[in-house]
Amino acid sequence: MTIPTEQVGSLPRPAKLQQAIADYDAGKVERAALLAEQELACKDSIERMEATGSPMISDGEQRSSSFATYPLTDTLAGTGLADNLAGDGQYFAIFDDGHHRQLPRLTSGPFRYKTFASDYLAKALPYATVAMKQSVIAPSMMSLLYPLEGEIEGYSREQFYDDVCNEAEKDIRQAFAAGAVHVSIDFTEGRLANKKDPRNPWTGRNMLAFFVELNNRVIDRFSAEERAKIGIHTCPGGDMDSVHSAEVDYAELLPDMFKMNAGYFLIQLASEKDKDHVYQLIGQHSRDDANGVAQVAMIGVIDPLNPRVESVEEVSQALVRAANFIPRERLGATDDCGFSPFSVDVKPKHGSPDLARDVAFEKITNRVQGVAMASEQLGV
Ligand SMILES: [Zn+2]
Repeated sequence: MTIPTEQVGSLPRPAKLQQAIADYDAGKVERAALLAEQELACKDSIERMEATGSPMISDGEQRSSSFATYPLTDTLAGTGLADNLAGDGQYFAIFDDGHHRQLPRLTSGPFRYKTFASDYLAKALPYATVAMKQSVIAPSMMSLLYPLEGEIEGYSREQFYDDVCNEAEKDIRQAFAAGAVHVSIDFTEGRLANKKDPRNPWTGRNMLAFFVELNNRVIDRFSAEERAKIGIHTCPGGDMDSVHSAEVDYAELLPDMFKMNAGYFLIQLASEKDKDHVYQLIGQHSRDDANGVAQVAMIGVIDPLNPRVESVEEVSQALVRAANFIPRERLGATDDCGFSPFSVDVKPKHGSPDLARDVAFEKITNRVQGVAMASEQLGV
């Protein structure tokens, strides 16, 4: 037994795949050509992920448009967008480098997922020889598809939230049924909910408590045994090597976040300036009994936005330090975020998405080895 470790989910899509996405959006190639590139990228991701020695892998999300939009659209540009969605929804984030990402807008009910994460997992599993995890999007992110003001005619906000919860539950159950050992829920909007960015109105509405409650509506439908395998991922964003909410103090997020009755948490930390402050908050607010499950805190020891590769010793030292604040039986290790949550991402600080893939696998290798080193030192 060693300290548990897993990645968040995504890897940069190879340049060739990103080109295929652009060609498909432009109508230059058929869907089959795009699917063939996705297949190659998925296979390559799994083989290289397994070569890192990681005990748990993912498909690198090579088939999804993004971590948040996979249920809704085939590509980020909106090709294959579901019928009752329009492209011009809310910003879900405006990043520090000035670029933004936009969600679709719901125009009528009922709300249904077009694609479930398990659809991708089922295609990936035949390539894998070690345990696979699957990440899914949080109901709280999907809740932002409904216009912030007013009601959609014939489809109330409450009806919509009911549908969101039902679809999100199905997404998780189907991922387990397909063979996922862990399912983690991406919750990047948690930290952003305290940003109060006037350019992005929903971030000024104190929505965090609502997000936590909505997510618990889904999480609480699972048994304690199932919830031990359900995680929550928090981060200040990660796209084009930039972030959206790093300035929000974790003290404003973690007390609420740990109210979600999930069994483990994937917490960005490698890129935090004051790590002891965050370790302390985790130790203070994570629960050893969240309705029957002990909450494991997998701390970020790898920064996917920075091309510098963390050393094995660095990873180990971070975990040993964290164990001063977090009970070691509830300590784990992860990366700060997915390496490319959005399918179209040139990874500017890395030079290219292909170089960024090489760096990602080096980083994951060192995380796995650093975890082994720390496990020995801590006697876990
Ligand atoms: Zn993230």
